[in-house]
Amino acid sequence: MAKEVYDIVIVGGGPAGMTAGIYAGRAHLKACVLEGMSPGGQMFTTSVIENYPGFEIIDGPALAQAMEEQVRKWDVEILRKHVTGVKRQSDLFEVMTLGDEVISGKTVILAAGSKPRKLEVPGEAEFAGRGVSYCATCDGAFFRGKNVAVIGGGDSAVEESLYLTRFVNRVTIVHRRDQLRASRHLQERAFADPKIEFLWDSEVEAIEGEQAVEQLRVKNRKTEAVTALPVDGIFIYIGTLPNTDFLRGVVELDPWGYVVAGEDTRTSEPGIFAAGDIRTKELQQIVTAVADGAVAVMAAEKYLWEQGL
Ligand code: NAP
Repeated sequence: MAKEVYDIVIVGGGPAGMTAGIYAGRAHLKACVLEGMSPGGQMFTTSVIENYPGFEIIDGPALAQAMEEQVRKWDVEILRKHVTGVKRQSDLFEVMTLGDEVISGKTVILAAGSKPRKLEVPGEAEFAGRGVSYCATCDGAFFRGKNVAVIGGGDSAVEESLYLTRFVNRVTIVHRRDQLRASRHLQERAFADPKIEFLWDSEVEAIEGEQAVEQLRVKNRKTEAVTALPVDGIFIYIGTLPNTDFLRGVVELDPWGYVVAGEDTRTSEPGIFAAGDIRTKELQQIVTAVADGAVAVMAAEKYLWEQGL
């Protein structure tokens, strides 16, 4: 039996990948979405979303599920596959997956997104799942009535701190500068919240405890004083890193590892397109990711037509 060849293999099941699935389905292209181990991508680990048009407020997992259901309305397969490599094979691309299954496509849309950046301090790996978390939605409820720290000063750190106040007794936001990067309205809400405290100009040097996290060793960057911050948990929100390890030598990456691609989603390799957080872009948002997903399908369709595929 001849091996199945997709018009588009979409790598990643976050907002960019799911939107690409919807647009490919509506265009009657034969497509699959390889959603990896984390369906919904980072949306799934986001507590609340307040800036996706049409929803004043929606839980991340609910929006992820709604997008997935919309893809399933079309003749597009959603496969739980972790991609390990992409290779050109004359006119086609081979997409390698864990378990050695190879999926063939005439085009590929890379929408594998990004993953949480690690602090890289002693104790972080040791206490993962025992007080160290990168997902307030997943783990917040385990810290009911406890004291936690959130590391970072961006939108994610502040948004997830506000979410954590539903459960915890106290959130200490530990930030390396004396000013937040987060948007003004999030800052105002955090400053007004009696459960949120701030530790400015501070860097976590180590995460310490016996069986689980008990305290952070924190250094003040101005005074160099090192103090202990007793906490039961630490949520790390210091930005993200692109999921592009499997793409080295396949498409051009920028010095930070993002796929080099403009608003037209075209990469250095004709036939491969990049959508969402995986590509170089000014604004990493769900709305910009879904826009990329749509643009990438249009670009892939044009490529198929131009190549006579
Ligand atoms: P981000 O905006 O890059 O912020 C990362 C924060 O972590 C910064 O405050 C940074 O400090 C700090 N940081 C970075 N490396 C660090 C380290 N090694 N040690 C300690 N602190 C470190 O990341 P993000 O908050 O995850 O947001 C990513 C993107 O998603 C942004 O474009 C953001 O706007 C968007 N987002 C939007 C929303 C929303 O609209 N509601 C929600 C979540 C995310 P400095 O400030 O000193 O650089």
